Amino acid sequence: MTPKYIFVAGGVMSGVGKGVSCASIGKILQSKGYKVTAIKIDPYINVDAGTMNPTEHGEVFVTDDGDETDQDIGNYERFLDQDILSTNYMTTGRVYLSVIQRERNLEYGGKCVEVVPHVPQEVINRIKKASELAKSDFTIIEIGGTVGEYQNILFLEAARMMRTETPNDVIVILVSYLPIPSKIGEMKTKPTQTAVRALNSTGIFPDFILCRAEVPLDEVRKEKLATFCNIPKGNAISAPDVDTIYEIPLNFEKDELGNRILEKFGLKDKGKDLKDWEKLVEVIKASKEKVNIGIVGKYFATGNFTLSDSYISVIEAIKHAAWANNRQPVLCWINSEEYEKDPAKLAELKKYDGIIVPGGFGMRGIEGKIQAIKYCRENNIPYLGLCYGMQLATIEFARHVAGLENANTPEVDENTPYPVVHTMEDQIEKIKTKKMGGTMRLGAYPCVLNKDSVSYKAYGQKEISERHRHRYEFNNQYRKLLEEKGLRIAGTSPDNNLVEIIEVPNHKFFVATQFHPEFKSRPLKPHPLFKEFIKAAIS
Ligand code: GLN
Repeated sequence: MTPKYIFVAGGVMSGVGKGVSCASIGKILQSKGYKVTAIKIDPYINVDAGTMNPTEHGEVFVTDDGDETDQDIGNYERFLDQDILSTNYMTTGRVYLSVIQRERNLEYGGKCVEVVPHVPQEVINRIKKASELAKSDFTIIEIGGTVGEYQNILFLEAARMMRTETPNDVIVILVSYLPIPSKIGEMKTKPTQTAVRALNSTGIFPDFILCRAEVPLDEVRKEKLATFCNIPKGNAISAPDVDTIYEIPLNFEKDELGNRILEKFGLKDKGKDLKDWEKLVEVIKASKEKVNIGIVGKYFATGNFTLSDSYISVIEAIKHAAWANNRQPVLCWINSEEYEKDPAKLAELKKYDGIIVPGGFGMRGIEGKIQAIKYCRENNIPYLGLCYGMQLATIEFARHVAGLENANTPEVDENTPYPVVHTMEDQIEKIKTKKMGGTMRLGAYPCVLNKDSVSYKAYGQKEISERHRHRYEFNNQYRKLLEEKGLRIAGTSPDNNLVEIIEVPNHKFFVATQFHPEFKSRPLKPHPLFKEFIKAAIS
């Protein structure tokens, strides 16, 4: 079959789960026996998500090949159970950068290079390349933002151009929101009608509308959408609020989205199914007993709202591991700065079954995190440190067990007498010259485990591969001393040069990794370290 393309755009407002909808569409098509990949387009100028603050943008998701991407790529990986590569992520900045570079290299053969068609053409080339590389039957392309914005117009133009060129290979789905104003008490379709008109004005008529709302659509709403938005009634698909996002593919299937899409392309259901997924959702719903996990971090607040988006992969990894242990995770956000203001508050950590210090940057809240780690180590509270959470655990151990007073990382204190964490050799010049975009130690690297470690027991294999995103590292000058004082080096790079995992022995669970295991956790394949961590937490 010729490759098929499904563009997904958003209407009415952002934040209604377009990424998860794309991932769910992909999951469904996989379950019909097709090969699927997914692309995320972000309309901002940033070349990648790596230079943005997580409260601004949400988590930066790292791919195996070292790209710093949008969190939706994480959703695709988790739903499709597939490693997504850098080719599947683009931003306005990235697209323009390559158009300009090509112009400088005379690749346009003396032509005047114009915004249209050259920019959308570059977008199309990228989409086709990603589809080719993944050898996929279906490529789902999520266009960031909502229709009617200036920012994503060129991407919609790319969709229009592709559809005009190969009308039988391209469809467009609008994910929209249908409010039920509390004083009116009725689901309103008008904002969606307006969004469809905005989309129409770009030359695109959607084939399906996924209707996000508090509840499923009724017949009256379906009819209205059919009449006013130019779609068959059955192509208005209910997308009601759910308790777990993993239920969404099953919900879409209640309206037979999968077969309707196949029909649109003239394709057949190849008879696979969603059984594994159905079982997962059953387990999620049946897991009633709770496990309480505290996440000590700082990227939580935006105005009056708490943002869990900053740590989405960590949250999902905890959930996967908890469900695998038949528990319902209860997550609590702990702002480490509170412990700096009032150390007596540390005692509240006893309430939790386990504590995680996730990745982070800079100096805000650091002393509070170190205090929290100390409390976990001394009180036998299961602790999982991720990246910065590993560097800070090293500092804590150096200060309070090895007696290296004021040990630190240069990221926080350049003049520390004991830089137990130091700048990676190849980062020194980059930091000095401020070449900060896309220059960290990024992506997958192999790690060899110490057979005598909790980590080895968890993974059940000696060599693993995990994803990284950092500029600083464990300083080998202190390795011998810290080991003598009882710290266990549980994993290193194959040449034994980089410390990748530390553990504190004789503790319920104290494991901290320089890499980010959370990126590789999948709902049907929970990450071994998270699984062991949860096991310890409930023991
Ligand atoms: N700030 C630390 C570093 O750059 C840790 C990074 C992280 O937690 N992702 O090395």
